[in-house]
Amino acid sequence: MVQTSIQNYINGVLIPPISGKYLPNVNPAEGKIYSQLPDSDAEDVKKAVIAAQEAFPSWSSLPVEERSKYLLQLADLIDANLEGLANAESIDSGKPLNLARTVDIPRASANFRFYATAALHFSSEAHLTGNQALNYTSRKPLGVAACISPWNLPLYLFSWKIAPALAAGNCVVAKPSELTPMTAYLLSKLCIEAGLPKGVLNIVHGLGPKVGQAMVEHKDVPAISFTGGTLTGQKIASTAAPMFKKLSLELGGKNPNIVFADCDFKEAVQNSVRAAFTNQGEICLCGSRIFIEQSLYENFKEEFIEQVKQLKLGDPIKEDTKIGALVSQNHKEKVLSYIELAKDEGGKLLTGGKTAQVTGRCEEGFFVEPTVFEGLPFDCRTNQEEIFGPVVTLTPFNSEEEVIAWANSTKYGLSATVWTQNLKRAHRVADRIESGIVWVNCWLLRDLRTPFGGVKQSGVGREGGMEALQFFTEPKNVCIKT
Ligand code: NDP
Repeated sequence: MVQTSIQNYINGVLIPPISGKYLPNVNPAEGKIYSQLPDSDAEDVKKAVIAAQEAFPSWSSLPVEERSKYLLQLADLIDANLEGLANAESIDSGKPLNLARTVDIPRASANFRFYATAALHFSSEAHLTGNQALNYTSRKPLGVAACISPWNLPLYLFSWKIAPALAAGNCVVAKPSELTPMTAYLLSKLCIEAGLPKGVLNIVHGLGPKVGQAMVEHKDVPAISFTGGTLTGQKIASTAAPMFKKLSLELGGKNPNIVFADCDFKEAVQNSVRAAFTNQGEICLCGSRIFIEQSLYENFKEEFIEQVKQLKLGDPIKEDTKIGALVSQNHKEKVLSYIELAKDEGGKLLTGGKTAQVTGRCEEGFFVEPTVFEGLPFDCRTNQEEIFGPVVTLTPFNSEEEVIAWANSTKYGLSATVWTQNLKRAHRVADRIESGIVWVNCWLLRDLRTPFGGVKQSGVGREGGMEALQFFTEPKNVCIKT
């Protein structure tokens, strides 16, 4: 079988990397190489930045309605190619095809549609300073923005950055994760189909330390929007900060899921399972530390474990599969090492705990059983470090005070979920939890108008809503004496 050779998308055309070198792209459900991607380097990045710089004057001065039309067309093309994109995303990442079809890809087109229209409502501000002066603040695009995204929600997170950057009038050099490049490649073909002017969006494939680092270091890239791990975020910040670049960092999480005894039991159990294991636990917002009020603990545990055992693990292509493959052999080993750590730390294994054997075409795939531990202290490594896989802990708590302290005990602060029917408690707890978002009686419900991001080591800056358009523009104030 001839393998697809993914190409870079630079200056409006698909081209090979300058070095001519390629990397293997593995299908994690089969554990086999199925395509190859450019092993690009700083030279490709240079070329992409030049293309973006050349495109910037005309793209940024295009009426916003015109930019909007291009983005809306991209959204329509994503919808029209839903099945192909979902398939590519599932093959690249190992996630269930059904999840890619119903969540990832529709959310990618929603991102383009939202920012295509949000930009139309992005207005300048004016302030009258008594009868002395009139101040008005205009917002100008920054120039060339670098957008770097991870592998867990490939097209969804890629578009989450690219769409506001382009809508605000910037040109973009973007890099998808080397582990999941295929949907970004397909997107570049859709850009060509949409007639997006050359150089407006450039996609350079390859390794983070080579391509990503070159993007971050490039002197003509004034803004970086990054989603990925906290350690990589630190590295990027240490390069970008002395260069005074604008930086938006969306990083890791270790999110608490807090279940009070007065919750709607059925909803709380069902959604705690979903929050724990959707996308094999490879979502930054997954609730991996589940705290349950003592009086409900045994009942919750019994029903939770029962439902986890029902989760269908297997070939991502099957309609009823809920748990697919982990993204890579390395990641599988990392997850398995955390399972060993949890045992070493004294955790009691309630279900799962090992590699899952799938027969047929997936027998070499990177599958790990959904795994649940109990009996671990809130401050052990298993409960403090991001595993980013299908491993969660159950812990009983005795009071609101105690669980808030435990919830806030990690270095992360991305998201939290609270299950209670007591409205006052919901507000009280939500207010005291240190995280960018708190879901009450729901999980992963998204309103694109709200700011999104983490506190503490989960990130710096906010994406989503008008915040993203603000990030990708620089305010300029003009003060006129009246
Ligand atoms: P990484 O930090 O390893 O990689 C993210 C991206 O950065 C990839 O494209 C990677 O390329 C690139 N990269 C790696 N090193 C550098 C560098 N030195 N300079 C510039 N770019 C670099 O994260 P993962 O891909 O492993 O994603 C998982 C992480 O992402 C988890 O921690 C998760 O919590 C977090 N995440 C956060 C979200 C949020 O909204 N807060 C949402 C989703 C995920 P390459 O793949 O080639 O290494």
